[in-house]
Amino acid sequence: MGFLCQEVNKIKELYYKTTSILKLMLARKDITILYPSLPVRPILPKRAKGFLSVDTYRCNLCEKCKEVCPSSAIDIDENNISINVDYTMCMYCSYCVITCPQKALSFSDEFEGAAKNKKIFKYKFNIINIVKAVNTKEK
Ligand code: SF4
Ligand code: SF4
Repeated sequence: MGFLCQEVNKIKELYYKTTSILKLMLARKDITILYPSLPVRPILPKRAKGFLSVDTYRCNLCEKCKEVCPSSAIDIDENNISINVDYTMCMYCSYCVITCPQKALSFSDEFEGAAKNKKIFKYKFNIINIVKAVNTKEK
Protein backbone atom coordinates (compact mmCIF):
# COMPACT_ATOMS: atom_id res chain seq x y z
CA MET A 1 0.00 0.00 0.00
CA GLY A 2 2.87 2.32 0.94
CA PHE A 3 4.48 1.69 -2.45
CA LEU A 4 1.24 2.59 -4.25
CA CYS A 5 0.99 5.89 -2.32
CA GLN A 6 4.57 6.75 -3.30
CA GLU A 7 3.82 6.12 -6.96
CA VAL A 8 0.64 8.21 -6.83
CA ASN A 9 2.58 11.06 -5.22
CA LYS A 10 5.25 10.85 -7.93
CA ILE A 11 2.59 11.04 -10.64
CA LYS A 12 0.95 14.02 -8.92
CA GLU A 13 4.32 15.80 -8.65
CA LEU A 14 5.03 15.14 -12.30
CA TYR A 15 1.58 16.41 -13.26
CA TYR A 16 2.03 19.68 -11.32
CA LYS A 17 5.50 20.24 -12.77
CA THR A 18 4.31 19.59 -16.31
CA THR A 19 1.25 21.80 -16.04
CA SER A 20 3.25 24.66 -14.50
CA ILE A 21 5.79 24.46 -17.36
CA LEU A 22 2.93 24.33 -19.86
CA LYS A 23 1.32 27.40 -18.28
CA LEU A 24 4.62 29.30 -18.50
CA MET A 25 5.03 28.33 -22.13
CA LEU A 26 1.51 29.40 -23.03
CA ALA A 27 1.90 32.72 -21.23
CA ARG A 28 5.17 33.79 -22.87
CA LYS A 29 5.40 35.77 -26.09
CA ASP A 30 6.55 34.04 -29.27
CA ILE A 31 10.32 34.12 -29.66
CA THR A 32 10.39 32.34 -33.00
CA ILE A 33 8.29 32.73 -36.11
CA LEU A 34 6.29 30.25 -38.12
CA TYR A 35 8.87 29.73 -40.84
CA PRO A 36 8.31 29.32 -43.77
CA SER A 37 4.59 30.17 -43.35
CA LEU A 38 5.48 33.77 -42.52
CA PRO A 39 7.76 35.88 -44.70
CA VAL A 40 11.12 36.08 -42.99
CA ARG A 41 12.99 38.19 -45.53
CA PRO A 42 11.99 41.66 -44.26
CA ILE A 43 13.35 40.92 -40.81
CA LEU A 44 16.73 39.56 -41.91
CA PRO A 45 19.49 41.36 -40.05
CA LYS A 46 21.50 43.83 -42.13
CA ARG A 47 24.66 41.78 -41.81
CA ALA A 48 23.01 38.48 -42.78
CA LYS A 49 24.89 36.62 -45.50
CA GLY A 50 22.93 34.84 -48.19
CA PHE A 51 24.32 33.13 -51.27
CA LEU A 52 27.25 34.83 -52.93
CA SER A 53 26.19 36.97 -55.84
CA VAL A 54 28.28 38.10 -58.81
CA ASP A 55 27.65 41.38 -60.58
CA THR A 56 28.16 40.09 -64.11
CA TYR A 57 28.60 43.63 -65.48
CA ARG A 58 31.47 44.42 -63.12
CA CYS A 59 33.41 41.16 -63.08
CA ASN A 60 36.42 41.03 -65.40
CA LEU A 61 37.40 37.41 -64.67
CA CYS A 62 40.64 38.46 -62.96
CA GLU A 63 40.54 35.28 -60.83
CA LYS A 64 41.53 37.03 -57.59
CA CYS A 65 38.43 35.66 -55.84
CA LYS A 66 39.35 32.14 -56.94
CA GLU A 67 42.88 32.56 -55.60
CA VAL A 68 41.78 33.63 -52.12
CA CYS A 69 38.87 31.23 -51.69
CA PRO A 70 39.95 28.75 -49.01
CA SER A 71 37.35 26.17 -50.00
CA SER A 72 37.72 26.20 -53.79
CA ALA A 73 34.11 27.29 -54.19
CA ILE A 74 34.87 29.57 -57.13
CA ASP A 75 35.98 28.54 -60.56
CA ILE A 76 36.64 30.77 -63.53
CA ASP A 77 35.74 29.39 -66.93
CA GLU A 78 37.62 31.52 -69.44
CA ASN A 79 36.35 29.52 -72.42
CA ASN A 80 32.72 30.07 -71.55
CA ILE A 81 33.41 33.50 -70.05
CA SER A 82 31.72 32.68 -66.80
CA ILE A 83 32.37 32.50 -63.10
CA ASN A 84 31.08 29.37 -61.41
CA VAL A 85 30.22 29.25 -57.73
CA ASP A 86 29.68 26.02 -55.83
CA TYR A 87 27.46 27.03 -52.94
CA THR A 88 27.89 23.65 -51.27
CA MET A 89 31.56 24.55 -50.74
CA CYS A 90 31.19 28.20 -49.77
CA MET A 91 31.58 28.93 -46.06
CA TYR A 92 30.68 32.63 -46.29
CA CYS A 93 34.11 33.78 -45.12
CA SER A 94 33.93 36.97 -47.26
CA TYR A 95 37.54 36.71 -48.46
CA CYS A 96 36.43 36.90 -52.09
CA VAL A 97 34.09 39.83 -51.46
CA ILE A 98 36.83 41.82 -49.72
CA THR A 99 39.42 40.94 -52.37
CA CYS A 100 37.47 41.60 -55.56
CA PRO A 101 38.99 44.73 -57.17
CA GLN A 102 35.86 45.32 -59.24
CA LYS A 103 33.50 45.18 -56.23
CA ALA A 104 31.58 42.58 -58.19
CA LEU A 105 30.87 40.24 -55.30
CA SER A 106 28.33 40.56 -52.52
CA PHE A 107 26.13 38.39 -50.38
CA SER A 108 22.53 38.26 -51.51
CA ASP A 109 19.51 37.87 -49.24
CA GLU A 110 18.87 34.43 -50.71
CA PHE A 111 19.63 31.93 -47.97
CA GLU A 112 17.33 28.94 -48.37
CA GLY A 113 19.85 26.19 -49.05
CA ALA A 114 17.82 23.01 -48.81
CA ALA A 115 17.15 20.86 -51.85
CA LYS A 116 16.95 17.24 -52.85
CA ASN A 117 19.59 17.60 -55.53
CA LYS A 118 22.77 19.46 -54.62
CA LYS A 119 23.59 20.07 -58.29
CA ILE A 120 21.35 23.13 -58.20
CA PHE A 121 23.83 24.76 -55.83
CA LYS A 122 26.47 24.93 -58.53
CA TYR A 123 25.72 28.19 -60.24
CA LYS A 124 27.14 29.70 -63.38
CA PHE A 125 27.29 33.48 -63.80
CA ASN A 126 27.79 34.44 -67.43
CA ILE A 127 29.89 37.58 -67.65
CA ILE A 128 27.88 40.09 -69.62
CA ASN A 129 30.34 42.87 -70.31
CA ILE A 130 32.88 40.73 -72.16
CA VAL A 131 34.68 43.65 -73.84
CA LYS A 132 35.14 45.43 -70.52
CA ALA A 133 36.22 42.17 -68.90
CA VAL A 134 38.99 41.64 -71.44
CA ASN A 135 40.11 45.29 -71.42
CA THR A 136 40.25 45.78 -67.66
CA LYS A 137 41.90 42.44 -67.13
CA GLU A 138 44.76 43.29 -69.46
CA LYS A 139 45.58 46.50 -67.57
S1 SF4 B 1 36.44 40.75 -60.86
FE1 SF4 B 1 35.92 40.05 -58.81
S2 SF4 B 1 34.37 38.46 -59.12
FE2 SF4 B 1 35.39 38.79 -61.06
S3 SF4 B 1 37.02 37.27 -61.12
FE3 SF4 B 1 37.93 39.17 -60.34
S4 SF4 B 1 37.76 38.96 -58.14
FE4 SF4 B 1 36.37 37.44 -59.02
S1 SF4 C 1 32.81 33.58 -49.23
FE1 SF4 C 1 34.75 32.50 -48.79
S2 SF4 C 1 34.30 30.35 -49.15
FE2 SF4 C 1 32.65 31.50 -50.11
S3 SF4 C 1 33.30 31.73 -52.22
FE3 SF4 C 1 34.00 33.56 -51.11
S4 SF4 C 1 36.08 33.10 -50.46
FE4 SF4 C 1 35.11 31.15 -51.04
